[in-house]
Amino acid sequence: MKPTLISITLGATLFVAGCDAAPTNSPAAMNNSTNSTMKFPLQRTEAEWRKILTPDQYHVLREAGTERAFTGKYWNTKEPGIYRCAACGEILFKSNDKFDSGCGWPSFSEIAAQGKVIAREDNSLGMHRMEVLCANCGSHLGHVFDDGPAPTGLRYCINSASIDFADTNSPATNAPEKK
Ligand SMILES: [Zn+2]
Repeated sequence: MKPTLISITLGATLFVAGCDAAPTNSPAAMNNSTNSTMKFPLQRTEAEWRKILTPDQYHVLREAGTERAFTGKYWNTKEPGIYRCAACGEILFKSNDKFDSGCGWPSFSEIAAQGKVIAREDNSLGMHRMEVLCANCGSHLGHVFDDGPAPTGLRYCINSASIDFADTNSPATNAPEKK
């Protein structure tokens, strides 16, 4: 039993270290996606996106913009519910995984379900980061960092403009607003 336990622990440590510094050790899905020719299930032209989205949403979702810290509508939201992609409606995050990171953007330690988002390398602005995209429509959501809470150790730092919150108690999207 003992050798097995040790190798599992070692493997987990190596994996965490690999995520931090060595891109060659990252999961394949993160590596092979650095080009802009990725195909997503939901395809729309940029003209169509412009019609559907507000200018702020378009800038963040389609031009990989970033809203200013502490200005988005969800950075301090604590109500139970789900967060959908503001572009296509896919459920991406849950309030259970939202935590107060103090960074001024909605922060999640986990995705609502495996495969809902895609991470790819982003070397813009002189930084090496992992960009997070909606796996369904390819829209920009934010970035993922490895300084989140246990057990995942991840911090999905997401723009409020990229997501739509839905109260758990009101499944219909046309439910009356609470404010
Ligand atoms: Zn989407």
